[in-house]
Amino acid sequence: MHGARLLKSTLRQSLFESLTSSTDLAKAIDYVENMMDLAIEMMSREFVRDLQKEIETDEAYRLVTLGQDVTLEREIQRAALLDWGHKILLAICCNAPPPLPLLEASGFGLWLNHKGSLLFPNTGGIEHIKIAIRRIDQVLIPSLATETPPAAARIHELQAQIEEIRFLMDDLFKKSEALESGRDPLTCTLNRRFLPTIMAREVAQSIRRKVPFSILMIDIDYFKAINDRYGHTGGDAVLREVAEKLIASCRTSDFIFRYGGEEFLVALVETDLQRAFQIAESIRESVTKVSTQPTGTALSVTVSIGVAHFEGHPDYTHLIEDADRALYYAKERGRNCTVIATPDLASLPRL
Ligand code: GH3
Ligand code: MG
Ligand code: MG
Repeated sequence: MHGARLLKSTLRQSLFESLTSSTDLAKAIDYVENMMDLAIEMMSREFVRDLQKEIETDEAYRLVTLGQDVTLEREIQRAALLDWGHKILLAICCNAPPPLPLLEASGFGLWLNHKGSLLFPNTGGIEHIKIAIRRIDQVLIPSLATETPPAAARIHELQAQIEEIRFLMDDLFKKSEALESGRDPLTCTLNRRFLPTIMAREVAQSIRRKVPFSILMIDIDYFKAINDRYGHTGGDAVLREVAEKLIASCRTSDFIFRYGGEEFLVALVETDLQRAFQIAESIRESVTKVSTQPTGTALSVTVSIGVAHFEGHPDYTHLIEDADRALYYAKERGRNCTVIATPDLASLPRL
């Protein structure tokens, strides 16, 4: 607003100096004022929208940090499933009169249908559990109820299905726990949605406390080829190993984000450019030693890294752009190398 006021006043002054006709002057001033007001209105709208987004992210971060007690919920549901398992086995062995208790109507079944789908939205895992429940309730139990004595094979299948449900449920909880703590379930690095909050805070701290701040943009080389060769599961294993190396190479005070599919962003707090470069190189070297063997054969994995140092621009996206550009040149340079973002890089076009 202050800038706009200065601009308006300068523009008005120069119009006064250059126009003599009072009608022209009035028209020109009216036009300039209108255009300036329009620009201010648009900027304010954008600012409010950004602010809103930031508040929402902060809120999301607060909620996941506070978290519910997911671990307790998991234990309760495990117990509920086991309890039903014991009841049904007892009923079958003692020839209990029909109807036999169904899993869908049990405490576990009710929880899954009502709360489970809330806790684990958009996950295929819950559908698999429902399929297993249907098989138990609609196929296994009816046939067990009519057989005397019940067939051992069918009892084993019932046990196997219950075990499968327990396994699927544990997996869902594991993923949810990772999400609850704001982490990416595959790599245990921070979820990208917290990037704006954390970067804005670190940039503000760097300015206020006059401490250095650097970031690394890390991308796995030829990852598509790794996926093509070893399948998605093999690719996932490589991603996990690279993330482990990253976590091991950084301090606990640093922030490691999964930025994209096979791309990580590391925010190195209170770190100058030289130190950031050293850390990048140690990461690169330790990753090169990664030798996941999805198919039993040794696998060579490398990363390219772009390093950027915070130079005072309050908008952190500039810092990310710098690191991204440096990463691009690391790829251009043949990959498996580290490039520092410099002003001359900034002037080169990013193809
Ligand atoms: P470059 O050296 O230029 O970085 O080549 P690249 O093959 O690594 O890069 P590209 O962007 O062409 O391919 C990235 C691949 O990463 C494509 C995508 O299918 C895969 N990918 C993204 N997320 C995941 C994931 O979570 N798991 C697995 N296994 N693959 C993923
Ligand atoms: Mg890549
Ligand atoms: Mg990439």
